[in-house]
Amino acid sequence: MYDNSNIFAKILRKELESEFVSENEHCVVIKDKYPDAPIHNLVLPRGDYVDFRDFCSRASEVEKVAFVDAIGQELNKIDGGAKVLMNIGKDGGQFVFHLHAHVLGGFPKKG
Ligand code: 5GP
Repeated sequence: MYDNSNIFAKILRKELESEFVSENEHCVVIKDKYPDAPIHNLVLPRGDYVDFRDFCSRASEVEKVAFVDAIGQELNKIDGGAKVLMNIGKDGGQFVFHLHAHVLGGFPKKG
């Protein structure tokens, strides 16, 4: 069950401040407040989806394409290696229950 009092819902409604990277009709990209890498952005669909499982079962095809495209656009800005991560459920490490994909990059080059 989606609870619209979560942090990202508040950020999407502009009730809480956050550093926006980009936004369109379907998705918003913000900077993670506590980054785990030199680049750490979060891709959020605007729709009320708890996690990726919920999104896969309820989102429209247009929303799905827009979400994948927004992740791809973030990856295109990163030179070198990157990671895309989605935590699902408390046991899967999810802390904020509005779907978000972590896009991390800027790691030191190996070899
Ligand atoms: P999760 O563990 O749910 O996959 O990730 C939640 C992410 O939200 C964490 O990486 C955490 O650093 C980030 N975060 C927590 N509070 C805020 C906030 O108020 N603003 C932003 N932009 N990110 C936040």
